[in-house]
Amino acid sequence: MLLVKEFALSKKIQAIRGMNDLLPGDSPRWQFLEAKVRRLMQRYGFDEIRMPILEQTALFARSIGEVTDIVEKEMYTFEDRNGDSLTLRPEGTASCVRAALEHGLLHNQTQRLWYQGPMFRHERPQKGRYRQFHQVGVEAYGFDGPDIDAEVILLSARLWQELGLADHVTLELNSLGSSEARSAYRATLVEYFNDHRDVLDEDSLRRLESNPLRILDSKNPAMAEMLDGAPQLMDHLDEESRRHFEQLTTMLQAAGIDYVVNPRLVRGLDYYCRTVFEWTTTALGSQGTVCAGGRYDGLVEQLGGKPTPAVGFAMGIERLVLLLETLDLVPADAMGGCDVYMLPMDDSATVAALTLAEQLRGALPELRLQMHCGGGSFKSRMKKADKSGATLAVLIGDEELAQHSATVKFLRDDRDQRSLPQAELAVELHGLLETPEA
Ligand code: ATP
Ligand code: MG
Repeated sequence: MLLVKEFALSKKIQAIRGMNDLLPGDSPRWQFLEAKVRRLMQRYGFDEIRMPILEQTALFARSIGEVTDIVEKEMYTFEDRNGDSLTLRPEGTASCVRAALEHGLLHNQTQRLWYQGPMFRHERPQKGRYRQFHQVGVEAYGFDGPDIDAEVILLSARLWQELGLADHVTLELNSLGSSEARSAYRATLVEYFNDHRDVLDEDSLRRLESNPLRILDSKNPAMAEMLDGAPQLMDHLDEESRRHFEQLTTMLQAAGIDYVVNPRLVRGLDYYCRTVFEWTTTALGSQGTVCAGGRYDGLVEQLGGKPTPAVGFAMGIERLVLLLETLDLVPADAMGGCDVYMLPMDDSATVAALTLAEQLRGALPELRLQMHCGGGSFKSRMKKADKSGATLAVLIGDEELAQHSATVKFLRDDRDQRSLPQAELAVELHGLLETPEA
């Protein structure tokens, strides 16, 4: 008993399953992606919004839908000290609508917004599927035509281009029609499924009552043939949705965006209508959807606002980073590193080296300079210089102190070291780092 207790005490506390640390070796890939995203949003005229990660539970139950996977079994919900039911956000759209309404952003105006941050779902952790994961989301409010649908899809397509992913992702498109058309279709579908009850698995039988459209989404091979024969939403669209979809595809074609119409694409959240789409890849195994979205014209009203058309998408950052890593698409110079290691040869040179380092940083804002800290023998200092990954080391010792000079040592190629006056160092370093071969 005592042993068990001691073991428990000495056991290290670990992170929660499915919630990852982002380590220094990986963060450059995230930063690379995040920088591209930020710039892209500016280029398309989308403004950033940041919402809290905790919301009242009712927000998600009311928007995502009571009988969706997310609300039924994936949410992190708890009572806080006041007894209020709170939920760690499983997605961003509901929060974004809540925030936009709360601050009057939808009052007689359109909005194009984007956000990024962690989302939380209690799912079975596996490659590309985590309990804390990150999304970049885009939401546009107040536009009812297909032009904005095209615009958000074009924005995402340009991101794939910028990242070098364009040849590795496929755009899948569908239309869910108006909510009226969808209920009519729903009835037809339920009739069909009832005629094929013997083929339905347990999950699907449950969904037959609550959310029959989601059965179309099933990956169960035993149901594939039956699903192929199911009536298709596309054949039951209302006239306006059909026109909306046709115009959207015309716009995508004109922009040179390839797509496939996937009549079984229904998406897991209740609030979608008309356009739905996903960008998928085959390079990640079964977690192949990297971006998903669509139109949700009813949600703003459902959450207490005036009827406001809306369209948006969210992409999974972990999956995109995994894709960048798998395909080795992050350029070496974006993977971090350092240009110069400032190396006082012993402690008597520390002050001079620190001062010189600051001068160089002031003169060369792009310079990545790491200062040697922590003392040590000359040998161990040189080892650290090498380990820093720097191209050059700037050495300051007794001789350099006396002469106000610095010794530049080339750490990566076989070149003679050079002694330079400190006053000329900034200009010289600039030249040396711009044209490393010279
Ligand atoms: P999936 O079918 O993979 O479960 P979803 O339909 O639940 O996805 P959305 O709610 O549409 O996903 O979220 C948009 C994107 O966020 C997904 O396409 C995916 O890239 C990412 N995503 C969703 N859930 C997770 C998760 N648990 N871990 C990592 N990324 C996720
Ligand atoms: Mg899911």
